[in-house]
Amino acid sequence: MICTGVEEKMGLHGSPTCSISLGGKGKCRGFLLGAPNKGMEVMFHMMNEVRLEVGTQAFTSANLAYQHALDYAKQRLQGRSVENLADHGAAQVPIIRHPDVKRMLLKMKAYVEGLRSLIYYVAYCFDKEATSTDEAEVRKYRNLTGILTPIVKAYTSEKGFDVCVEAMQVFGGYGYTREYPVEQMVRDCKIASIYEGANGIQAMDFLGRKVGGSKGGMLKSLIQEMTLTIAAAKQQERLKGLAEKLEAAAGLLEATCTRAIQAMFSAQSASAFACAHPLLEATGDVVTAWMLLWRASIAVEKLDGKEAAFYTGKIKAAEFFITTILPATLGKLDAVTCENNPAADMDENLF
Ligand SMILES: Cc1cc2nc3c(=O)[nH]c(=O)nc-3n(C[C@H](O)[C@H](O)[C@H](O)COP(=O)(O)OP(=O)(O)OC[C@H]3O[C@@H](n4cnc5c(N)ncnc54)[C@H](O)[C@@H]3O)c2cc1C
Repeated sequence: MICTGVEEKMGLHGSPTCSISLGGKGKCRGFLLGAPNKGMEVMFHMMNEVRLEVGTQAFTSANLAYQHALDYAKQRLQGRSVENLADHGAAQVPIIRHPDVKRMLLKMKAYVEGLRSLIYYVAYCFDKEATSTDEAEVRKYRNLTGILTPIVKAYTSEKGFDVCVEAMQVFGGYGYTREYPVEQMVRDCKIASIYEGANGIQAMDFLGRKVGGSKGGMLKSLIQEMTLTIAAAKQQERLKGLAEKLEAAAGLLEATCTRAIQAMFSAQSASAFACAHPLLEATGDVVTAWMLLWRASIAVEKLDGKEAAFYTGKIKAAEFFITTILPATLGKLDAVTCENNPAADMDENLF
């Protein structure tokens, strides 16, 4: 084996990557591990842990970028507040006071908090699957880890990257320069949607092996868990409306997955797989909304103490995500065209 070069990468400069040539220096022997043609199955098993780690890597870049953007937005003075637009003598304010900057920061906060909970929750499900002695419970947690692992890998890597890009936007021109830290996070984060199975492959695992392979069983476990949170949130006056919105989204998700399963096992299978990624993304949105509602249900009980601002922020993140992002998810689910998808029969010569 010889090292044929060190890759010139966009990011991750703290971790060199080389290309190697197996057998490039004389004879080389390969050994078959396990049964023939079972490699993919074994590989997915091996990859489960790494998929969680890659999602976590993207999440940490996103969290760091958000923290930097938040800090910068409190310091950078630029423009007058919208209340004083007509007063040309009014003092400049920190950009965190502008509604559009607040929108960007709250969007980042919502994704970062939702994705953090999702990662912890999936790690918890893996622990429960490994340690529970109750057969039904093991089955439930196996279903949850099965369906949520490609979401952690693919959805977190994409939304984590989006958060890094949004953080650069908060910095304005400085964000695009190397003197400030977020351009590094944008570069470092991008790889997460590519390595350990590109996200297109994760989406095929999600639809083919998880949603379709379990004939909807894994999805059922997921919806059942969401329903528990929704029922508890409905008991809270402040969260009732949010819970109803999530309930509607979960219902549409279930119906869309049923359509996708039917298409997958029919002559429309190419159309179904052309929708695997959009379906994974919409599922990630619904799961993130679930996590945020769950966090808000805990926060709503703690608004009286000295940490009221901290907990109010959790409720705001849920309100923001469920009222401004989740409605678009309903449209994304409607757009899951798993019958006669134009991409499915798009011949090479038509491009
Ligand atoms: C920085 C870095 C570090 C890496 N480290 C390692 C390492 O340590 N060990 C290691 O083994 N590998 C490593 N890799 C390799 C990495 O895992 C692969 O690059 C990655 O899995 C994608 O495979 P590929 O590059 O062959 O892309 P391809 O498989 O050629 O994919 C290209 C595109 O086609 C799509 N595609 C491919 N096949 C299908 C299909 N059947 N259906 C639908 N869409 C498809 C993909 O989704 C993707 O969008 C590393 C890569 C990088 C960039």
